[in-house]
Amino acid sequence: MKVATTVKEVREIVKEWKKEGNTIGLVPTMGYLHEGHESLMKCARENDKVIVSVFVNPIQFGPTEDLESYPRDFEKDKKLCEQAGVDLIFHPEPSEMYLDGFSTYVDMSGLTEELCGKSRPIHFRGVCTVVSKLFHIATPDKAYFGQKDAQQLAVIKHMVRDLNMDIEVVGCPIIREESGLAKSSRNTYLSEEEKKAALVLSKAVFLCEEMAKKGEKNTAAILKEMIALIEAEPLAKIDYVKAVDAETIVPVDTITKPVLFAMAVYIGKTRLIDNTIIDAK
Ligand code: AMP
Repeated sequence: MKVATTVKEVREIVKEWKKEGNTIGLVPTMGYLHEGHESLMKCARENDKVIVSVFVNPIQFGPTEDLESYPRDFEKDKKLCEQAGVDLIFHPEPSEMYLDGFSTYVDMSGLTEELCGKSRPIHFRGVCTVVSKLFHIATPDKAYFGQKDAQQLAVIKHMVRDLNMDIEVVGCPIIREESGLAKSSRNTYLSEEEKKAALVLSKAVFLCEEMAKKGEKNTAAILKEMIALIEAEPLAKIDYVKAVDAETIVPVDTITKPVLFAMAVYIGKTRLIDNTIIDAK
């Protein structure tokens, strides 16, 4: 497994690979890797070569967010990638990605204005910009994103469509702990007590799936139950719990096509997200 820290190194390696006729899969991450990231790497193995980027992207964090404290352990990440059969890790410094005077951004309206975009106004501009840069640097055939960040997945698919990027975006299912808690690098912020309290997110997801399975089509009725469940947990504070069209992220009242039930909930100081997509069938 190779490790590159500069754009130039990645370009040289990718050029050789392409000359040999290899296909390339890219898995963008912020590191502190866990089984959720690992599942994306496994999906990406359908390509001849797999690149994982490990980069805590400063421009997707708001001024009061956790950029400084975001967990990092590159040695551990390297081992996990090696074991997962990754061919190249791209681990640049912020100064390599954002040269002095950097001033070009990819900014999307519409899809980015609901859910996480509402509470994190500059977040998706940062995400779209860094992912565009990674796409230009690694020039993958396919790129892999988790359903865990459902809005991000929809936004990236939309960006690729809008900007005619010749890359297939592949969504991979949410990986959960046995308890139901969705795996996240941010789970490391949680105390034991908070980890128990955090189960309200997955419980709300399962409740939603159960109600939908029984035939409930009214999103307000489902959201009401989900919110009541979360509010019963004293350590939980809701940022949002919403039902939107899974593709356009526009709020919906009735389940007639795939609906994304998504939430962001503070457990103590830690903001966690979870979601499920309910099919009309
Ligand atoms: P992050 O390092 O948190 O930016 O995540 C990098 C990628 O891994 C994103 O596409 C996430 O959606 C995905 N990911 C993170 N956690 C999970 C999970 N529990 N299950 C599936 N994918 C995940």
